[in-house]
Parts: sequence; structure tokens; C-alpha cells
Amino acid sequence: MVREKNVESLSCTDCSIYNCRTRSKAFPGFCLTTKDNEGHPIAEDIEEIKNYLQGDEEDAIVARASAQVEGLFYGKLTRVEEIIEFANRIGAKKIGIATCAGLIEEAKIFADILTAKGLTYYSVICKVGSVDKAEIGILEEHKIKPGGHEAMCNPILQARILNYHKTDLNVVVGLCVGHDSLFIKYSDALVTTLITKDRLTGHNPAAALYTAHSYYKRLLQTKE
Ligand code: SF4
Repeated sequence: MVREKNVESLSCTDCSIYNCRTRSKAFPGFCLTTKDNEGHPIAEDIEEIKNYLQGDEEDAIVARASAQVEGLFYGKLTRVEEIIEFANRIGAKKIGIATCAGLIEEAKIFADILTAKGLTYYSVICKVGSVDKAEIGILEEHKIKPGGHEAMCNPILQARILNYHKTDLNVVVGLCVGHDSLFIKYSDALVTTLITKDRLTGHNPAAALYTAHSYYKRLLQTKE
């Protein structure tokens, strides 16, 4: 696909050098690491963040723990195990599970795994509260099955309940696009994702990208 872009709008997905990863080549002219971004002196940001993450704040602990999990277990642990390893390294003892109703069986297995590994949990399903979609102005024809009670997903309530229970780390299990956004917005605890919902690909959204030049050609078709 041919895209015309002016140099000012070039960003990391236009790069094929990735010198930020290894510093073994030269940075491209438009590099976000070396030029100011939207008038912001990026060198100052780099220094400030680096200094901040050398400290003892929660963000610094999280930054180091996630890098340790990445580096020590690269290609060795499943994401389920990585989450447990990460939780242990940040001192999280009580895990919140924010699950989709459609993935409740998977959430139950995850809960059993947490228990087996010595962690406690509290879980909330997306339909908690049982508020009909019509009550927030969703049209009947926009329901999956119009005509009956169809509970809306309630990610704000999911987050609040986990907040009331003072979970240390919340894990998303298959929340819908947008519902996950609200959950993350309202969660007091840090959030990570175990399952990213994609109903067509068995919850493997990358599959659509891998096949964007074949089965999912429609993804690259330009808008009229
Ligand atoms: S930060 Fe610079 S080197 Fe790294 S991907 Fe972006 S443009 Fe390329």
C-alpha cells in the first residue's frame, strides 16, 4: 500500500532501522528519539523519565519488574505465568480479575491457577449490575438479540468493585474493545491483560494482521 506522508508526520511505523533498540546503526532523520516531538524537547523527557525510574516509586518498581520478567523468562513462560511472576515481583498479593461473561470459564481456570501459585483473587464479570442496555439509551436494534433483557457490560462497576476490594493488580480477561478502556480508566490498581477479545480469531487479534494480505484483505482496502 502506497502512502504519501510529509516528513513531519513520519513516525515509528514508518521506520525500518529501529536504532532505538540496539544503537548499532544511525537514527533516521525523523527519529522520535532524537528530534523534539510536537515542540516538546524530547531529550529532557528522556532524562527525566530515566531518573524517575531509577527511584523507589511504584512506577519504577513496575518498570524494573516488567523488564526482569521480559529478560529472565524471554520465550520461556506463558503470559499466564508472566503475570504471576510480575505480580510476585511488584509485591501484589490480591489479583483482581475483570472478566467477560463469554470468557468466564477461562477466568475460572485462571483463578484456580492463581490459587495454586499462592495468590488470592477477587473476580467480577462484565454483566455485573445487570442493567439493561436500553437503560443507557442503547437502541433495541443495537442489541445482539433485540426484544429481551440484555445486560450492558459495566466496566466502571467492575473497576469500582475491585477498587472496594483493594486488589493489588487487575487482570483483564477478554473485555470488549472500549469496555476495556473504561475499566482501565477507572481501576485504582495497575491493569494488565491476559486475554484480548477477538471473537473472530479465537482471541488472537494478531492473526488478522498476519493474514491482512490474504484472508483479511478487507482490512487494507481504503475507505471510499
Ligand atoms: S524511535 Fe527512531 S529508530 Fe526507533 S523506531 Fe522510532 S524512528 Fe525508528
